[in-house]
Amino acid sequence: KESLIKTRKNFVEKIDQIVTGRKAIDEDLYEELEEALIQADVGIDAAVEMVENLRSEVKKRHISDAEELRALLKEQIQAILGEETPSLNVDADKPAVIMVVGVNGVGKTTTIGKLAHYFKENGKSVLLSAADTFRAAAIDQLEIWGNRVGVPVIKHSEGSDPAAVAYDSLQAARARKADVVIVDTAGRLHTKSNLMEELKKVHRVLGREMPGAPHEVLLVLDATTGQNAINQARLFNEAVGVTGVALTKLDGTAKGGVIIAVKQGLEIPIKMIGIGEGMDDLRPFDAKEFVEALFD
Ligand code: GDP
Repeated sequence: KESLIKTRKNFVEKIDQIVTGRKAIDEDLYEELEEALIQADVGIDAAVEMVENLRSEVKKRHISDAEELRALLKEQIQAILGEETPSLNVDADKPAVIMVVGVNGVGKTTTIGKLAHYFKENGKSVLLSAADTFRAAAIDQLEIWGNRVGVPVIKHSEGSDPAAVAYDSLQAARARKADVVIVDTAGRLHTKSNLMEELKKVHRVLGREMPGAPHEVLLVLDATTGQNAINQARLFNEAVGVTGVALTKLDGTAKGGVIIAVKQGLEIPIKMIGIGEGMDDLRPFDAKEFVEALFD
């Protein structure tokens, strides 16, 4: 809840200011609401659509009190986000393979560490796979997290074939009867096409070795990057078919509207949210709780 304070201040309090004591529901009011939505990084298309829906609901329900728009907006956001909590697909198969993708700096390594901790807390044995072989630092960082949360890390040397690391990790997970393998991947942005080919290969090798794998392609997005996050999601989704998003740094942004943009624009469920730098700061995303916390 506390992680949403900034978004609440920036967004819901602004909505309150706009509607409170307002005499009429007129064009100016709709424009101000649209502006507030765009400012919160809901995305232009989603903002326009939401305001359109508001208009038609106001007509349909013969609403004349501007303050009722707050509740209407809340309803709409809930409708977009849905009510259920889509969880990570880790119980159908053993080992469950989670391939984690995302550009450098979004919090990928941290999220993998937190995820490993989360699964461990839930009684699962975890193995990490250092398939970002592009930077030695990436392998080191993953090992630091492995040590911190007490899970083994399978690695090769810097510059080796990421798909080979993923392959070996899957073998190791089988041998050790691990419940979950989390595969780290590279996120260098400057050579995008090579990166996407590399990710496709890792994906292919995992699927060839184990039908159904990877069971999750989890895209890590940084909530503070707003619409950039949406563009990244498109790119990764085209390449490897993203099955869920982990949205990080929600604690550090006033633009939590990016959650709506991801859901509305991409139809990819948000499965986890990052709300801090510690190992406990990762939560399953609960849409209902999120909307309640935002509007309470
Ligand atoms: P990577 O390059 O994508 O692997 O990114 P890192 O995992 O190294 O994270 C980059 C920075 O973001 C680090 O300083 C992390 O501590 C920080 N970070 C990651 N997730 C969160 C989060 O949910 N909240 C906050 N406040 N910081 C985060």
